[in-house]
Amino acid sequence: MKVPVNEPVIADGAKKYVLDALETGWISSAGKYISLFEETFAAFIDVKHAITVTSGTSALHLALTSLNIGKGDEVILPDFTMIACLDAVLYTGATPVFVDVDPETYCIDTDQIASKITDRTKAIMPVHIYGHSADMDPILVLAEKHNLYVIEDAAEVHGGTYKGKKCGGIGTVGCFSFYGNKIISTGEGGMLVTNDDEIAARARSLKDLAHDSNKRFWHKEVGYNYRMTNMQAALGLGQTESVDTFLAHKKWMASNYTSQLKDIDGLRLPITKDYAENVYWMYGILVENSFPLTKDELRSALQEKGVDTRDFFYSISSMPIADPYRTDDKYPVTQDISKRGFYLPSGLALTEEQLTYVCDVIKEIATS
Ligand SMILES: *Cc1c(COP(=O)(O)O)cnc(C)c1O
Repeated sequence: MKVPVNEPVIADGAKKYVLDALETGWISSAGKYISLFEETFAAFIDVKHAITVTSGTSALHLALTSLNIGKGDEVILPDFTMIACLDAVLYTGATPVFVDVDPETYCIDTDQIASKITDRTKAIMPVHIYGHSADMDPILVLAEKHNLYVIEDAAEVHGGTYKGKKCGGIGTVGCFSFYGNKIISTGEGGMLVTNDDEIAARARSLKDLAHDSNKRFWHKEVGYNYRMTNMQAALGLGQTESVDTFLAHKKWMASNYTSQLKDIDGLRLPITKDYAENVYWMYGILVENSFPLTKDELRSALQEKGVDTRDFFYSISSMPIADPYRTDDKYPVTQDISKRGFYLPSGLALTEEQLTYVCDVIKEIATS
């Protein structure tokens, strides 16, 4: 049997909308699906404004520029995250400041943020990793105290909540990705969400080349083309309308994996805090010393049986592109989990037969 690490599901409604977008000829970034998708997504996250963009990376960059963050400013972000977070900060010329993560949730360790705040700090960028919310309240308290923006990277947490509030809609700005492996996908795409009218207006202008508001084709500021197409928005609308089914599948997947794997010695399964409703974007596990194989050995043994898996992220501060910003600070949790962690097949198309096969293979490896 072959089990891919991720296989998407395209809802029938989404296919119908995409065909409609094609048949009406509205293939570029004007057309009804853009506003329909934005309105539907805003309602889903319970925010005032949702603004389509070309990717999660461009959403993060647009968030930073809309908040006028640039050279000389500092942005605090977790060391354990996807590289797009660091890239977006570097595009603006701002300085990234890395913070280690919580050993249970893999999200930014809120006890370590205060000591990294300086006069130059402008924003904190918590990342909700693998579907689990960061601990937002301590972050909001620090942001309030030091007058900082909070930019949530919600690329992996569509529909997940923190104390009952949808992730992405809690900070100043939230950024979503709609890449093919995300819970809602548009192929490639992203969304910036906010409750702030001024930030929303600025983001809308900057994502469309920053035309002067009184004189179109006149530019006082450098803008970007981060416009999503109507075809992608049609796909996004259809997928958002099916999100309850997708989230139910993720919940089913996690509880099934957990019940089949919980008795294996040496595997640490995902931990969900009381404050979070985990949407299990990916089912990540840690290989402990008591497991008979190392992580790399376990992953190759799974690969031999047709089971595709992915390593956890590397520490972003250890990347060559972070050389100019590295300090003497250490990030032991990130170093540790990136050595021992990987995720199991977690796609929306994963069947019960495939899931049980994956667990059977792991059990066989663990006892041989
Ligand atoms: C996927 C992802 C992104 C980037 O999104 P793209 O749409 O691929 O640009 C950013 N942050 C996190 C945490 C992600 O998982």
